[in-house]
Amino acid sequence: MTKSTPPTVRFAPSPTGRLHIGNIRTALYNWLFAKKGEGQFVLRLDDTDRERSTDEFAAGIVEDLAWLGIVPDRTEKQSDRFAKYDAVAEDLREKGLLYACYETADEIDRRRKRLMARGLPPVYERTALKLSAEEKTEFEAQGRQPHWRFLLPNFAENPFETQRTEVKFQDVMRGEQTVDLASMSDPVLIREDGSYLYTLPSVVDDIEMGVSHVIRGGDHITNTGAQIAIFEAVGGPVPEFGHHNLLQDASGEGLSKRSGALSIASLREAGYEPMAVASLATLIGTGQPVEACADIEILADVFDPEKVSKSNAKFSATDLDGLNDKLLHSMDYAQAEPRLRAIEADLGEDFWIAVRPNINRFQQASQWADIVEGRFEALPIEPEDAEFVALAAALLPEEPWDDQVWPNWTSAVKEKTGRKGRQLFMPLRKALTGQDHGPDMRQLMPVIGLPRTRRRLP
Ligand code: GLU
Repeated sequence: MTKSTPPTVRFAPSPTGRLHIGNIRTALYNWLFAKKGEGQFVLRLDDTDRERSTDEFAAGIVEDLAWLGIVPDRTEKQSDRFAKYDAVAEDLREKGLLYACYETADEIDRRRKRLMARGLPPVYERTALKLSAEEKTEFEAQGRQPHWRFLLPNFAENPFETQRTEVKFQDVMRGEQTVDLASMSDPVLIREDGSYLYTLPSVVDDIEMGVSHVIRGGDHITNTGAQIAIFEAVGGPVPEFGHHNLLQDASGEGLSKRSGALSIASLREAGYEPMAVASLATLIGTGQPVEACADIEILADVFDPEKVSKSNAKFSATDLDGLNDKLLHSMDYAQAEPRLRAIEADLGEDFWIAVRPNINRFQQASQWADIVEGRFEALPIEPEDAEFVALAAALLPEEPWDDQVWPNWTSAVKEKTGRKGRQLFMPLRKALTGQDHGPDMRQLMPVIGLPRTRRRLP
């Protein structure tokens, strides 16, 4: 691929659960890579496992991606494409590259254990390749259905005499990688119930959809060796590959779609900003600082696939909270305004600037809008403060108010009453907001305004 050819990438989750922050890392790496190269992003739902895949999970994936600002250029699902895989599988069978095996899972397991006990790698010995037509018929008469393995090109003449066969590729993220095809078993492409594992459909689709770069987790490196051989057997072209490091949870466990841990849906429900999640999922475990990027374009500029580390990265909730705070605390009004309107909390730019340092979730702006507009339960004024508050009320300056109203007013009250510090400020803050903490009163008081302030000071 020359530099000027825009890339085509794909994100290929199986719709068997909700996306978690680790899946999103793969999605974002593909999306950002496509963005940087002005290329195309395909969402491919790997739903060949018909039992575990559901339409709800597929819809959830689309929704989670959209929340992060990822809108695919094209969406496909593998369950629509079985005829294509069948044709390619048939072709491989005819070439002798896809062969029927009849071992049960138990037999395979026992064989693996025997090899390992002898200190040998647990590589499938191609026993099924020796079966005669009669033996196969016999197995089928017993009710056994075959599963189908791809014959890896790791031998010269005799498939039972394998030899070191290096597949090399230039990984976008890890540099040159080498996989030895003699170190692995012939991959099963079709299960005994006739369903496909993702391995072959993925190759068929990548070719047909013009995928130029396959970007996925580092747990696929060995698969890549086998898949490159399959690309070649099917007639290519072979795309480029990039394998990113994986994310683990705080205790060092891998993330699983099935457990629902750190799902994007749960982070969204918890009120996190999509760009806090996207910034963390992208930048953690890279040689780059984990900074809060305000939008996906900025993240695309910052992201550098070559800086992704090789070792796994740990998700940290504290990092996510920190990024979320940074985004909210620096969000300008133009960006906040439509969202404030949506939660009926748009009281103007001065309001937003006053409250943004005091919120950890955008939604909390509505609590402050309620307070400014007087929808809160007034705190009882302590008997020892009653006279003080009344005096303060009498000293309220006329409007127009600016950010000097609070310092000017409180100095006048201080002079009159002799109170200072907490004793001076706290009863006034409580009377005006019903809270003992909150935004800087210098910014908040002009937003509350004189009539409402007067009503709160008996
Ligand atoms: N469906 C596969 C997975 O989720 C796709 C892997 C790939 O990106 O090729 O593991």
